[in-house]
Amino acid sequence: MEALLRWQHPERGLLTPDAFIAVCEDSGLIVPIGRWVLREAARHHRILVAHGWGHLRIAVNVSAAQFQQGLVDDVLSVLRDFELPAGILELELTESVVMASPDNVIRDMATLRDAGVCIAIDDFGTGYSSLAYLKRLPLHRVKLDRSFVQDLGRDPDDEAICDAIIRMAQRLGLCTTAEGVETDVQWNWLAAHGCEELQGYLFARPAPFEDVLALLDRPGGA
Ligand code: CA
Ligand code: CA
Repeated sequence: MEALLRWQHPERGLLTPDAFIAVCEDSGLIVPIGRWVLREAARHHRILVAHGWGHLRIAVNVSAAQFQQGLVDDVLSVLRDFELPAGILELELTESVVMASPDNVIRDMATLRDAGVCIAIDDFGTGYSSLAYLKRLPLHRVKLDRSFVQDLGRDPDDEAICDAIIRMAQRLGLCTTAEGVETDVQWNWLAAHGCEELQGYLFARPAPFEDVLALLDRPGGA
């Protein structure tokens, strides 16, 4: 599961992050909001545990500003306060978060990995990719960006890029998650090319936690 932020605005209705994340980044509000999201994700893990779904991984997106302002301590205290076992919390970082301060981020990621946190590179292939850093990052997972996934089955160039990323990840011992999977054609292509995990509207749309829990608690479960 991935924790996604929404804002129920009194006049404009339900807003997705593209409507407000930039201003949160600029104002520095992203740090307390990011901290809140982290704690909320961990709090929801406790609810999942109570419902017998405590083994499900929860991914949280983090920004560069959080790394600069005590992310490691925030994460360590969340792990402690909510008794999160190893392998449950995953942090998703974009390439630009890493490139903002590579040495510091790599050091902090190593500390977090040692504490049982999984690390994923988000939107892979769209940022300032540096394969040299990819080698040094303590990663578990690469998330194949939706822009490459979109035209699988139609565009040989996108297929070449996806195939190369999946193979590279395999050789580096990393898992690949494809983002934005919406069709059976994409699903079949990705499965045939060794992509281990898929995410997207084909399986589930973003939903409030209560709805996700209801889906899990149905007879037959997830
Ligand atoms: Ca993400
Ligand atoms: Ca993404």
